[in-house]
Amino acid sequence: MFDKILIANRGEIACRVIRTARRMGIRTVSVYSDADAEAQHVKLADEAYHIGPPAARESYLLADVILDVALKSGAGAVHPGYGFLSENAGFAEACAKAGIVFIGPPCEAIRAMGSKSAAKQIMEAACVPLVPGYHGQNQDPAFLRVEADRIGYPLLIKASAGGGGKGMRVVWKGSDFEEALSGAKREAMAGFGDDHVLMEKYLTRPRHIEIQVFADSQGNALHLFERDCSIQRRHQKVIEEAPASGMTTELRAQMGKAAVAAARAINYEGAGTVEFLLDEDGSFYFMEMNTRLQVEHPVTEMITGLDLVEWQLRVASGETMPCTQEQLVIGGHAIEARIYAEDPNREFLPSIGKLRHLRTPAENAHVRIDSGVRQGDEVSIHYDPMIAKLVVWDSDRSAAIRRLQQALAEFQVVGVTTNTVFLGSVAAHPAFIAGEIDTSFIERHRSALFPEVAIASDRILALAALDLMLEQSDLALQRASASADPYSPWHQSNGWRLNFDNHHELYFIDGEQTTTVVVHYRPGGYVLDLPGGSLFVRGERGAGGDILADLGGMRVKATVVRHGNTITILDQGKSHLLTRHDPGAAGDEDEAAAGRLTAPMPGKVVAIMAEVGVRVGRGTPLLIMEAMKMEHTINAPCDGAVAEFHFEVGAVVNEGAELLNFAAEVEKTVV
Ligand code: ADP
Repeated sequence: MFDKILIANRGEIACRVIRTARRMGIRTVSVYSDADAEAQHVKLADEAYHIGPPAARESYLLADVILDVALKSGAGAVHPGYGFLSENAGFAEACAKAGIVFIGPPCEAIRAMGSKSAAKQIMEAACVPLVPGYHGQNQDPAFLRVEADRIGYPLLIKASAGGGGKGMRVVWKGSDFEEALSGAKREAMAGFGDDHVLMEKYLTRPRHIEIQVFADSQGNALHLFERDCSIQRRHQKVIEEAPASGMTTELRAQMGKAAVAAARAINYEGAGTVEFLLDEDGSFYFMEMNTRLQVEHPVTEMITGLDLVEWQLRVASGETMPCTQEQLVIGGHAIEARIYAEDPNREFLPSIGKLRHLRTPAENAHVRIDSGVRQGDEVSIHYDPMIAKLVVWDSDRSAAIRRLQQALAEFQVVGVTTNTVFLGSVAAHPAFIAGEIDTSFIERHRSALFPEVAIASDRILALAALDLMLEQSDLALQRASASADPYSPWHQSNGWRLNFDNHHELYFIDGEQTTTVVVHYRPGGYVLDLPGGSLFVRGERGAGGDILADLGGMRVKATVVRHGNTITILDQGKSHLLTRHDPGAAGDEDEAAAGRLTAPMPGKVVAIMAEVGVRVGRGTPLLIMEAMKMEHTINAPCDGAVAEFHFEVGAVVNEGAELLNFAAEVEKTVV
């Protein structure tokens, strides 16, 4: 076994590999970019080396630099994780040349599966079933059109070098073919530098079923059952489970046999995944083979009780696989949900920013969380915006779904938009519960899964108001205890005010609308005038933003996280964002508001919306930036006027660059 390994990756997978290595007494070496200097994978490893700037192509994709670190640190092997260099045959070869073990398959096997077209030819020869299609060399558009008509419509055009759903086009009828072909080629060229495509029959309601395979250098090969990864958005997986619901022993044996045949056909070693499409009629077709550990491997670990990274390390160091096919059994049911910093209501575009509050459900035998971030870390534009993988296990599928629903509701993130509520809607959907899933599940159930953004209910407003009032009363108590004079009015902490009727007005901006909540001080609590009526509330604040509230006799446990004037109320698995409008506070002292005048991420200025020197009200759009294919509006933090714009339309700006100078209008104090 190796004494020391280098992990050529970052984030959750690097942390995941380090965990197993440590358990096996293997020392670990991490590499990191400028953006990751404080990252968890750097802190967890025994040693860590800086390898370059944030962009992956200047750091995590630099094979030579990473190999140098491996040699310098004395690591005997490199674990590539997934993504980055994991399926790079050149890197695997360079490792071998340098005398370092690549923890993955032989470079010939990576190469054989690197092109979807070439892989299909190999699989055809090994009698693995394929989706009817064309996967040859001829790329002449006229020829491809003839082939397309032969295959029939709907048809799918795929980039041979593709991955991550890029370079894929569905063609519903012949007359759309040419345009779809050029679109797929364009995207393939831009994404992979190779515009070679293949075509296959488009199955309209398939399931994505993949088989985990493993092989060692002694010629043993086996499979560790299937995973159903049909719940996808933009052809990318978001929920995966094992075993697949409704899977029969016979079909599992057939698919397992085909997958092992695929692995044997390319003299495979290590962990791999053979992906199939399962059609409604029970036929299955080879799609591609991923020659690495998959993101979703934990569900297989949960139902087999095995550690696949340990298997990888053992096999790579020349050991025989720890068990045989006959010894493997399925125990219970596991589901993984990928928690992404992304906005489901904006076509799942990544959302970036600082994780101001991150609380995950407690880990135990039923709940596992694989994450590479902590509260306070940044989700940046440079890498995949996955925050964590939430994996649940129970004795059967319906119990596992209940665990998933509960754990998703407990997963709290403030600072970026996430898909947790969306995942919760999938997990609660009757069709998902009934196991009626296929790859167009999300599209088909769109209306039920993407709820309209609702305006804050009285309950949410009450929690926000109560939290503010309790904080004020805590501050008053602190001041009182700090004051030496027991007769000082500061010693009063019960809402004592000079004004006669003893009330306070709070203004909450909720999307487009501003709601006023009037707070009346009462002994032991407050009466709130809310849109739906008045309510007596009281409560206590706990650690980490927790609040235990009594709302008109109903006890509620929630979390309220505030940053500047932004208030996030986490209640019943949902998150509501309100902004407090505080007419008494000077706008430019507001950290959150001031921060918005700087570029939230590198991007381009696409529009200037205000004129220099012209008075604008708080919240007026001043400038629009585009970054990560998304538009970001910079709004006036308070009433005032722009003194100067630092950039013109079309300018490219760095993250944190000050975009404009804003002169706040000083409010007159009304006596
Ligand atoms: P990538 O490598 O880009 O992820 P895949 O070939 O693995 O692309 O396909 C990704 C997803 O696209 C599949 O999981 C499935 O949902 C869909 N898909 C691929 N091929 C077909 C097909 N022939 N018919 C229907 N859907 C398909």
